[in-house]
Amino acid sequence: MKITGITSHVLQYDLPEPLGYSQQYYSKRSAHLVRVETDAGLTGWGECFGPGSVALANKTIVERVIQPMVLGMDALDRDVIWHKVYNLLRDHGQKGMPMQALSGVDIALWDVAGKAAGLPVHKLIGGAHRSDVPVYGYGMMLRDEPVADLARRFEDEAVAIREMGFVATKMKVGFGPKPDIALAQAVRRSVGDDFPFMVDANHCYTTSDAFYVGRALEELDAYWFEEPVAPEDHDGYRELRAGLKINISGGEAEFGRWGWRQILENRGLDIAQPEVCALGGITEYLRVLALCHAHFTPVVNHVWGSAIAVAANLQLLAAMPPMPGGLHPWEPMLEFDTTDNRFRDELLTEPLDIQRQVQKNGGRVTVPTGPGLGVEPDPDIIRHYEIT
Ligand SMILES: [Mg+2]
Repeated sequence: MKITGITSHVLQYDLPEPLGYSQQYYSKRSAHLVRVETDAGLTGWGECFGPGSVALANKTIVERVIQPMVLGMDALDRDVIWHKVYNLLRDHGQKGMPMQALSGVDIALWDVAGKAAGLPVHKLIGGAHRSDVPVYGYGMMLRDEPVADLARRFEDEAVAIREMGFVATKMKVGFGPKPDIALAQAVRRSVGDDFPFMVDANHCYTTSDAFYVGRALEELDAYWFEEPVAPEDHDGYRELRAGLKINISGGEAEFGRWGWRQILENRGLDIAQPEVCALGGITEYLRVLALCHAHFTPVVNHVWGSAIAVAANLQLLAAMPPMPGGLHPWEPMLEFDTTDNRFRDELLTEPLDIQRQVQKNGGRVTVPTGPGLGVEPDPDIIRHYEIT
């Protein structure tokens, strides 16, 4: 089954209000989908991490750099294709955008393989350890307004996410240690003592500021402290993990097995958050997962983007072995964006309906069982939102 074409589709619309994280505010929502076509008439879909102009640059890498390398290759030879592309791009980017671009192509090849076999991706990997997964709702993005106003907004948003049925929630920080602690206090106050919440700094702190915030988050019994310092600061992660009781999480900005080997051997993570649409696709994710388990580091996948990314992650979460196992094992969660996102809600011919499932099923969603990723995007929606 030969690959006959790879196309890339960048979708975008204006958000109703600008949203932010510790690095920037953004006013557009975008998603980057990859379509692989074969001479058997099967097509597969994947997704690349990276918004806006990053997505447009990645589109060029997908269509003009990777496509010519793999045209005519057997679409089922995912690992051969992965290594051919990686080896040819090694001199130009072992991390970052070339890996994001390869990720979308690889995920689409897994979708093709599942459709060819008539099996969901989790069956190709080795089967479902669970047929449904708990979901945490992230929201509470930054807004460019006084922190006291934002704290009130976060209080309302956190309660709304809890009432939607999610099992936990996650907030952003990024105004500096003292205002950030005030925001976290507001969230704990509003959701009550028993509802888990997590805090995502998107690597905005120095190590000493991260200690200061981390100690306050321990007082608030926050579940994890995500990307407290820059992803390259391996020493900072190790010191924070050794010195704080709160779980330190991170890894969404790491790529490939070699980068992951380093951060795991460094012992700076309590919880690993690999991003399948960036680190090298499902083929590489499985190797990174094995490395995480070899270091006895639990995994909660980082999820960002459209319903294609959500579906790919549901397949992976189903196929994730319990680690270390037990009668009531530690369970991974699906990360789910509760902010305005039409590519999550409108993209598929048959929606995943995550929010309804969460509400009805005690915060859990069922893993799709159709062939491949188990979902199909609607071509009319893609046409409607596509930019070039
Ligand atoms: Mg994050």
